[in-house]
Amino acid sequence: YQAKRDRTGVEVYESKRDSNTPDRLGLLGDLRRALDAGEVELHYQPKVRFDGQVAGLEALVRWVHPERGKVPPDEFIAIAESSGLMPHLTEYVLETALAQVARWRAQGLHVPVAVNVSPRDVHTPGFAGAVAARLARHGVPAGALQLEITEHVLLEDPQKAADTLNGLTGHGVKMSLDDFGTGYSSLVHLRRLPVSELKIDRSFVARLAVDTEDAEIVRCTVDLAHSLGLLVVAEGVEDDETWERLRDLGCDAVQGWLVAAAMPPGETTAWLLARGEHGWRRPADIAAAAA
Ligand code: C2E
Ligand code: MG
Ligand code: MG
Ligand code: MG
Repeated sequence: YQAKRDRTGVEVYESKRDSNTPDRLGLLGDLRRALDAGEVELHYQPKVRFDGQVAGLEALVRWVHPERGKVPPDEFIAIAESSGLMPHLTEYVLETALAQVARWRAQGLHVPVAVNVSPRDVHTPGFAGAVAARLARHGVPAGALQLEITEHVLLEDPQKAADTLNGLTGHGVKMSLDDFGTGYSSLVHLRRLPVSELKIDRSFVARLAVDTEDAEIVRCTVDLAHSLGLLVVAEGVEDDETWERLRDLGCDAVQGWLVAAAMPPGETTAWLLARGEHGWRRPADIAAAAA
């Protein structure tokens, strides 16, 4: 495998994209072990509204391989999906996230958590019921859980996917449509999927402040989503200018490094406690208020 160092100096694994190299098989075996050994962790990234209120947290899986260093989620999730390990990974993620939500609630921190689920999961028989049972076991109300799906859920068996998703929303779980604008986005999907939130993909958000076409796409997406009664979250907001544009376009909430990167659980708790009732404030606004 090839490795490079990321900004934090930790080695980042980069694989070649072929599907069944010995390398990939090795990684799959390692992932299986890592799940059993509890080496896979969840970090949490805040979604905040423009008034600073914390709308929720997104759970993002993290795996530091003992020899290879950090393996990017996109990399090992693809491996899990093509190997049949995905349901196991998702169970692990749901279990870990719900245990954490229960701990936060016990501390008086009532913040909803979003978990990413893959198309595989949605097509796993009994998925909706299993999620409901897991919520009950942790004593977590369904409204405290959100599931992020992508339009890829509709590729295989759209009717079956829609049934599962309706089952989930029937239990009170909120659905969010992730990575909107990439791949197969279409109005048909928006109509078919019982989602209450739409997340605009980072690829449109990143250059929003400098690219007028991206700005137009974001504007249309926000308007479309609102006309369908959906909340809109922008992913990958890294700077003040982008934040201001999104606010002016009527976007509901943002997620991105401007606010915070995904943090380990302890750091997330501290972050939530430090925000208190007033929510998150932009460094730029704090500076302006102090001046
Ligand atoms: P996603 O669900 O669209 O998550 C957003 C990704 O953008 C995350 O990457 C996050 O760390 C990154 N991000 C957030 N803010 C910024 C920013 O301001 N700038 C930039 N450049 N990036 C930002 P991450 O954690 O590497 O996850 C990548 C993808 O892997 C996720 O995309 C999601 O599709 C998948 N994934 C992560 N955790 C899970 C999981 O537990 N289960 C499943 N099925 N998929 C997961
Ligand atoms: Mg997501
Ligand atoms: Mg996304
Ligand atoms: Mg993504």
